[in-house]
Amino acid sequence: MTGVDDEHDPEGATIAFERSRVESALHQARGHLADLDRAVERLRDGTYGTCERCGGPIAAARLVARPAARTCITCAAR
Ligand SMILES: [Zn+2]
Repeated sequence: MTGVDDEHDPEGATIAFERSRVESALHQARGHLADLDRAVERLRDGTYGTCERCGGPIAAARLVARPAARTCITCAAR
C-alpha cells in the first residue's frame, strides 16, 4: 500500500492541485494581512510613510500602489 496514486487518478491529482493552490493563496493572504496589521500599527504611532531602513519619506505614489510598503523605493530596489 503506497497511498493514493495521484498520477493515475485524474480526480485525485486535481484535488491535490486545488488544495495546494488554495493553501498558497491562503498563505499569501495571511502575509498581506500581517503587512496591513503592521501598516495600521505604523499609522497609530505616526511612522507610516517613513522608510524603515533609511528613515526617509516613502513617496505617496508608492504608498498608493503598495499601502503596506515599509521601505522607500530606493531601499526596496537595493
Ligand atoms: Zn529608504
